Amino acid sequence: MKISRIEVGEVNIPLVTPFKTALRTVDSVNDLVVRITADDGRLGFGEAPPTAVITGETKGSICCAIEQFIAPSIVGMEIENLDGIMERLQGCMLKNTSAKAAVDMAVYDLYAQSCQKPLYQVLGGRRAEIETDLTISVNSVEEMVADSQKAVNEGFRILKIKVGKEGLADVARIEAIRRAVGPAVRLRVDANQGWGAKEAVRIIRAMEDRALDIELVEQPVKADDFAGMQYVTAHTATPILADESVFSARDAIRLMEGRAADLINIKLMKAGGIYPALKICAAAESFGVECMIGCMLESKIAVSAAAHLAAAKGIITRADLDGPSLCRLDPYEGGPAYDGPWIRMNRTPGLGIVSAPCFTS
Ligand code: MG
Repeated sequence: MKISRIEVGEVNIPLVTPFKTALRTVDSVNDLVVRITADDGRLGFGEAPPTAVITGETKGSICCAIEQFIAPSIVGMEIENLDGIMERLQGCMLKNTSAKAAVDMAVYDLYAQSCQKPLYQVLGGRRAEIETDLTISVNSVEEMVADSQKAVNEGFRILKIKVGKEGLADVARIEAIRRAVGPAVRLRVDANQGWGAKEAVRIIRAMEDRALDIELVEQPVKADDFAGMQYVTAHTATPILADESVFSARDAIRLMEGRAADLINIKLMKAGGIYPALKICAAAESFGVECMIGCMLESKIAVSAAAHLAAAKGIITRADLDGPSLCRLDPYEGGPAYDGPWIRMNRTPGLGIVSAPCFTS
C-alpha cells in the first residue's frame, strides 16, 4: 500500500464553554485535518491544532509545512516501510511538531489498517478503555466550583484545575473545589508556567499544609526555566509534572537526569507524533518515570491517536484527553467512543475514523 495523496482541510467546532488558561482564552476548536489517500483507496486521518503560544505553529505554517515539505518527502512511499517514512517525515524540516504529528498519525492509521487491527493493538496494547480527567478553566471561584461539581455529576472522577494567574489566591480556589467535590475526586493542578520558582514552592506547600491532596502540579514555572523546575521538584512533596518543558525524548531525558520533574506529560503535538512519542515512553520506562498523555485543544482525530498510544503503553498511567468532551459536537464518523470520562477504543482497524466534514469526496 502506497501513499498517493496528502490533503489538508479545516474544522471549526464550538466549545461547550470558553477554554481559559494562564496563557490564553479560546472558544472553538479551529484545527487542520489531514487526509492521506493510499493507492488502494484506503484513507488515513490526522489533525493538528495551531497552538502558536506553545509550539509556535499557526494554521498557515502547518499547511505550508505539510504541503511543501512533508508531503513531497513521503508521497509514493510504501506504508509498510513505517520506519523509512518516519525518518523522512521527522527529518525533512526542523520543529513544526504539530504538522508532523498530523501526518504521523494518519500514516499510523493506514499502517494499522494494513495490519487489519485497531491502532492500539498494533502498538502492542491491551487496554480496551482508558479514563480521562476533565479540565476546569480559570474563572471566578464560584464558577470553578460549579464547573467542578457539574463534571463530577457527569461521572468524571479526576479534575484538572487551571490556575497560575493569582499566586497564593489560587490556593483558596483549589480549597473551595476540594471542599465542594469531597475527598474521593482526584485533583490535578496545572499552572501553565504561571509561577516563579519560589512562589510555586510557597503555593504548593500551602496546598500541602491544608491537606488538599493534590495528585500532581503541572508546569509550575516557565518552560525554559530548568533550574526553576529542579528547585520546585526538590522543595515540595507533591509530584511535579513537566509539560511545556518537554517536547522531545531528549528534553525528557535531560529533565529526568536532572531531577527537574517527577512525571512527564507527553503530547503528540509537542513530540511530533506517535513515532517520537514512543521514544519518550522508552526513555521514561528506563528511568521508571510515569507519564501522562495530554492534548491541546484537539478534536476527536488527534485525541484518538493519543488515546490509542495511551491504551498501548503501560508507562502512560494518566490521561488528560478531554478535547472531545469540551466540544459541543462531534463532526466525525467512527473512532473510539467518548462516554464521559471513558474512552473506549474502536475495534475497527486503525484510528477508526471514517470521515471528516472538510472532505466531501
Ligand atoms: Mg499543561
